[in-house]
Formats: sequence, structure tokens, C-alpha cells
Amino acid sequence: MQKKWYGKDFRLGVLGGGQLGRMLIQEAVNYDVYVHCLDPDAQAPCVDLAHSFSIGSLTDFETVYNFGKDKDVLTVEIEHVNIEALEKLVEEGKKVFPQPHILKMVQDKGLQKQFYVANNIPTPPFHLVENKSEIGKYISEFPFMQKMRKGGYDGKGVTALKSVADLETAFDVPSVLESFVDFEKELSVIVSRNEKGETAVFPVVECEFNPEANLVEFLFAPANISMEIEKAAEKLAVKIINSLEMVGILAVELFLTKTGELLVNEIAPRPHNSGHHTIECNVTSQFEQHMRSILNLPLGSTRIIQPGVMINLLGEKGFEGAAIYRNLEAAMAIPGVKTHIYGKANTKSFRKMGHVTITAESLEEAKKIGREIKDLIKVEA
Ligand code: ADP
Repeated sequence: MQKKWYGKDFRLGVLGGGQLGRMLIQEAVNYDVYVHCLDPDAQAPCVDLAHSFSIGSLTDFETVYNFGKDKDVLTVEIEHVNIEALEKLVEEGKKVFPQPHILKMVQDKGLQKQFYVANNIPTPPFHLVENKSEIGKYISEFPFMQKMRKGGYDGKGVTALKSVADLETAFDVPSVLESFVDFEKELSVIVSRNEKGETAVFPVVECEFNPEANLVEFLFAPANISMEIEKAAEKLAVKIINSLEMVGILAVELFLTKTGELLVNEIAPRPHNSGHHTIECNVTSQFEQHMRSILNLPLGSTRIIQPGVMINLLGEKGFEGAAIYRNLEAAMAIPGVKTHIYGKANTKSFRKMGHVTITAESLEEAKKIGREIKDLIKVEA
């Protein structure tokens, strides 16, 4: 008889114990799925909520291998994990979703770009360079976005090279030199796939970035785009997850150019910041969907119940220390406002400390309240 996928005997392991793991646990509870986390931080957001919490490095072979040995299914909430340990666990018959070779590809923005090219997936043109001096070869093609191949996240490891003067601040590491895209909008599509090969895609959302922190500031769901672009973006996301034969949830970040073209910026094979609104706005949240896909369950409906706006609560610039959430209660008093606090002990400039989702009858109404909330809640120390 096949082992049950619920109850205490079934052990779902998550590499990482941050806010994504925390929101996954919230959904897992509904299905009596027990989540076990590994994270280097003894104060990580999952520490008091996971069924068991192991403190240790996500990049160390032995630590990841030993953590995985007694789990039934392993997943991640961060890409920067030890791949060799996961490959060994797969060889030994463990289920690891997303599959290790996908994580390996995503850890390196250069490999990601080569994957798009090899699979005819539209992406901004690029060159791969080994170091800063090699950038000199492409001066006639400026401006570029320079992206470190490895180790970047949340806008760290990305820098604009608009003119030769910017070479001074260029990274001196292997990187992707990507043509600057004069985009109309940044979009994101979340798609999932289970082991049976079934896929389900969430409606496209629109992201607005904080130019200083390079982080999502506002997210609008659904995106204000034509049905044609909506369908094309969804089709692209399904094509990517099928080409990878990936199991789990995949976020596809896209640029919509001024001429109506869709270009893939990057992908993330895990629950994603651009899917947080699905908790309130859609029949199934991205976290539940991720769990359904990695446990090979039927995928849930991705239908929108109500439009919404998501705002990240970032640590105020210049504050560092024990977090204080200013005006939280005043925000909660506004109908349709839902706050999510990640339980991080300390704040620092632009750290993701929580998020707020605002739902309303119309997106316009949600946006109006969103702008109020943005100026109201402050995370200080
Ligand atoms: P990260 O992996 O750190 O999130 P991204 O590659 O997504 O970095 O880049 C962060 C942000 O920088 C993007 O969301 C977008 O606003 C901007 N950006 C990235 N690539 C380009 C590009 N080729 N042209 C213009 N803006 C870009």
C-alpha cells in the first residue's frame, strides 16, 4: 500500500525556514501535512511553527543530505542550496521537487539565459562575461543591466550600466550583460505542475518596483493587459514548466515591452513574492498549489475571487533592530485589508518584514486603499 501523504508519518522537508516556508506551513496545516524545516538562522520565521526545525547550512553537503535522509518529499523555499546533496538523495530514491538540475540552472543566471535560447523562449539579448574588463568589448552596445551569474537576489547583484562612466561600479565577477529593456510593465505568471504532468496557471499580475531597493513595492492582480497578452503570458509559463518537466510551482517574471512583446526576465522554481495575493484573491493560494503539486495531488482552481493589491512591508531605511510595526491597527480597521507579519525579530533597511493584501470590489478601489496603506504602516526599530 502506498504511504499516506498526510498525517505525522509523512515528512515533508523544506530547505529554508523563511516567510515562504511559513506561509506554506499555514496551508499544510489544513491538510494535516507535517512540515520540517532546515535553516541556518535560529530565529527564522518558521522556527516556532515547523513540526521540527533543524539549524544548519543550506549549502553544506552533509547538512542537507542528513536533513533529507528521513524525509518523504523535499522542497525548497530558496534556490541557493547544496545541489550535490539533493542529487544524491534523488539517486537514493527520494523525491526532490523542484528537481535538483532545475535548481542548479536557476542558481546561475547565465545557464538560465542559455536555457531560454535553447528552448526558443523570448528573453532580452545578452552576452556572458567573465569579469569587468571583458565588458569593454561591448561598449558600443550600452546600456546594459549587468547581473551577477551567481549569488544575487532581490535586486542585489544587479546594476545598470548606462554609460562608460558606470563601469567604475560594475561587478568584477562572471555575469550576464543584458540589453536594457524599455518596458511598459513588469508582469509575473505563476504556474504549477504535478508528477502526472498536469499544469495550472494563475492569472497574470503586474508588479511595480521600488527603484531604490529593486524590490516589488506594489503588485496588482489581475494585470491590466489585453486578453491576448494574458493568454500569451500564460502559454509561455506553461511552455517553460513543461520544457523543464518541473514538479512544483514556478514564477515567471516577464517584461511587456512598449511594442507588446513578452520577454522572460527570470524564473523562480518556488512560491514567489508575486503570488502572495493568491492567499486572499484566488480560490487556491500559491502555497497550497505548491504543496498539491509536489505531493502529486490534483491541482486547485486558480480562479480569481476578487481583485487585489499586495504591498511588501519593507524595513524603513535607516532603522535596524527589534521591529516595531507602526499603525498596523489603523490599517487593519480598513475593510479588505489583511496583514501578514513574518515574525522576523529584527528589521533593517528594505528587509522584507511582512506584506499587506487589499481586496475590494474593483482593482481601482484596492489601489486607492493601497496607496493609503503604503504611507500608513511603517516598520521601524
Ligand atoms: P533579482 O534576481 O535580484 O530579482 P532581476 O534580474 O529580476 O534581479 O532584476 C531586478 C529588477 O531590475 C527587475 O525587476 C527590473 O525592474 C530591473 N531589470 C532587470 N533586468 C532589466 C533589463 N534588462 N532592462 C531593464 N530593467 C531590468
